[in-house]
Amino acid sequence: MDPQNCDLATGLVSKRYINQGSQAISRRHKLIKTLLSQRKLPEHGWDDATIEMLLQDASFMDSNNFLDNAGVGEREGRVASQLVARRHYNLAHGVGRSGDITAEQPKAAGSSLLASITSLVLGDALQLAGLEDAGPPLIVPLATGMALTLGLLALQQILASRLSIKAPPTPRYVLWSRIDQKTCLKSITAAGFLPIVIPLQRQGDQLVTDMQSLHDKLHSLGPKNIAAIVSTTSCFAPRAPDNIISIAKLCQQHGIAHIINNAYGIQSRALCNLVTAAWRRGRVDLVVQSTDKNFMVPVGGAILVGPSKKITTQESNNNIDLVGAASSLYPGRASAAAMVDVLITLLHWGRSGWLEMLVSRENVYQYALESLLSFGSSVGERVLHTPDNPISLGLSLDTLTSSSKDTSSTLSSTKGGITYLGSMLFNRCISGARVVGAKSLKKEETVAGIEFTNYGAHYDEYPCDYLTIAAALGCSRRDIDLCIDKLRVCFDEHKQHQQHQL
Ligand SMILES: *Cc1c(COP(=O)(O)O)cnc(C)c1O
Repeated sequence: MDPQNCDLATGLVSKRYINQGSQAISRRHKLIKTLLSQRKLPEHGWDDATIEMLLQDASFMDSNNFLDNAGVGEREGRVASQLVARRHYNLAHGVGRSGDITAEQPKAAGSSLLASITSLVLGDALQLAGLEDAGPPLIVPLATGMALTLGLLALQQILASRLSIKAPPTPRYVLWSRIDQKTCLKSITAAGFLPIVIPLQRQGDQLVTDMQSLHDKLHSLGPKNIAAIVSTTSCFAPRAPDNIISIAKLCQQHGIAHIINNAYGIQSRALCNLVTAAWRRGRVDLVVQSTDKNFMVPVGGAILVGPSKKITTQESNNNIDLVGAASSLYPGRASAAAMVDVLITLLHWGRSGWLEMLVSRENVYQYALESLLSFGSSVGERVLHTPDNPISLGLSLDTLTSSSKDTSSTLSSTKGGITYLGSMLFNRCISGARVVGAKSLKKEETVAGIEFTNYGAHYDEYPCDYLTIAAALGCSRRDIDLCIDKLRVCFDEHKQHQQHQL
């Protein structure tokens, strides 16, 4: 009810009460007004009703919700089920047009407005997390892997457009520092490139980028034949984030595009700082991250971001605006669902809530580390020393493997085998803990046509079996406590099974 209607209502109910009610409404309107005028993430989180008010107003501005609208086209945002309509706050037109995913929808002023606001508040959230000098972020309704493919396709198109008759063929190779997550590799082959795997180097417990090998490969294949280097920040221990600063410098030096898979890196200040340093000091064309892993929303979206104009207009920086290129490459309209989920979540947290989430994650990481250290020392295992991985932790499983030297892969998942520990944990509702038989199993696997030794361990010859856990956004101390309790039970049981087998 607007102030005019409140005036009209005076008399039906006493003026005093109407005034008070009207003030209550205008408090909510003011929050929305502040959002629209400041175009920033609000300081404090909003209550659900105010968020719904914004979404409601936006949906009233879309043609499918106009009173007396007669739709005679083929895309009128018609929704048969009220359940579906409610699930989407009656926002049915999606975002973008055939020409560009960021283009305004004439039939959907409200959805288009939400898209603009989301990009702004998300940009703010990224900066608060530690990502500085970033250009405007783009949310696409694709998960991380497909978003990487989209970025690579955009790159492909740009490289092809630079061809003249005399020019060499489009670079075909993508150098990729090994990470054992199938999506990463498939995102490269899906875009039609040939991935060249650069094995990692082991430094103590930690697996790091092999810069020398990257350098050698770049020269042996010839920089002109290489379209991009794809690096990864967030990953399972004992892998460390790639040395993206050195990679960025290498890319700048040789005129090669650099795409960073920062899947769940936004939640870590250290990783955000690393990305910032990489694009300040070298070349970064695109950084891709997932919406579900960083913002606690259902799977369905990814964020594409690149360095700001301030950085890209610097001399010596010859990078490509892959965010813009991906946005105009995208054929057709897109679902607005992923974007609306992110907007709702950010308005729910506000600036203070988002910062609190980030800080509490860092605290939970510390707590997980300490808990794992003390558990490890009580059972004769050690926490792998991976100081550069700010999210994932590894615990050696020597005592579970050493007594079963002859564990073959067929035995491994039976009682007493190392992966049996994984299923024991899973059966006790501990999800996300990974058991990797890096020493005892040596799993061979072919992914996207490439053969890997010891797939899952990021490395051919890791010296021990281990277990990983992650202190990711939303993980609580209680989760860690429960995990350690069940881990203790599983360790005991596992050792009993082993004794039976001896
Ligand atoms: C989760 C993850 C992916 C895959 O993401 P999807 O969102 O499932 O496409 C890729 N790389 C890394 C490092 C990941 O953690």
